[in-house]
Amino acid sequence: MNRSAVPSAKGLERLIEALRVLPGVGPRSAQRMAYQLLQHDRPGAEQLAQALSEALATVRRCAKCNNFTEDEICALCRSPRRDASLLCVVETPGDLAMVEQTLSYSGMYFVLMGRLSPLDGVGPREIGLDRLQARAADGEVREVILATNFTNEGEATAHYIAEMLRARGLKVSRIARGVPLGGELEYVDAGTISQALLDRRNI
Ligand code: ZN
Repeated sequence: MNRSAVPSAKGLERLIEALRVLPGVGPRSAQRMAYQLLQHDRPGAEQLAQALSEALATVRRCAKCNNFTEDEICALCRSPRRDASLLCVVETPGDLAMVEQTLSYSGMYFVLMGRLSPLDGVGPREIGLDRLQARAADGEVREVILATNFTNEGEATAHYIAEMLRARGLKVSRIARGVPLGGELEYVDAGTISQALLDRRNI
């Protein structure tokens, strides 16, 4: 006999478990989300399921900048209006969007999709530093601008990349500390980022 107070439904349990892949979602909020979707918003749930499987089928990484795209090479990397001599390294697609919002940068990007975090098992390979090295050494790039966050991990990542690229004879700079200490680009206003780019220094 099932003595559990809550009648079990396998599909519901699987959904709750699946929702926990979302960042910051623990068992209780996963449960709330599942109830919400199944009880109050079944069309929304349908839409979510469809969007998720479509995105999985169509979205991939740009072969040049590593950002999300549906093409082999994304529109930004294909654009003839971008300055191919500058390569700005950011942690996330959100950070790229923030730099773009400043309208003061017209170079190219490389998106790490993370930062070095040895304790979490994120090493150089996990954030594609081999690909970054190849990208930066394409012969067109004259300067690599490191725009990782001013957090401990972001700084360590910038330091590691600087060493790696300088060893290859590439010019490397770091955006200025107009971005507050511990600051993540995502939460800084466009004017500050714009100034930090302008005041970048060689490292
Ligand atoms: Zn691209």
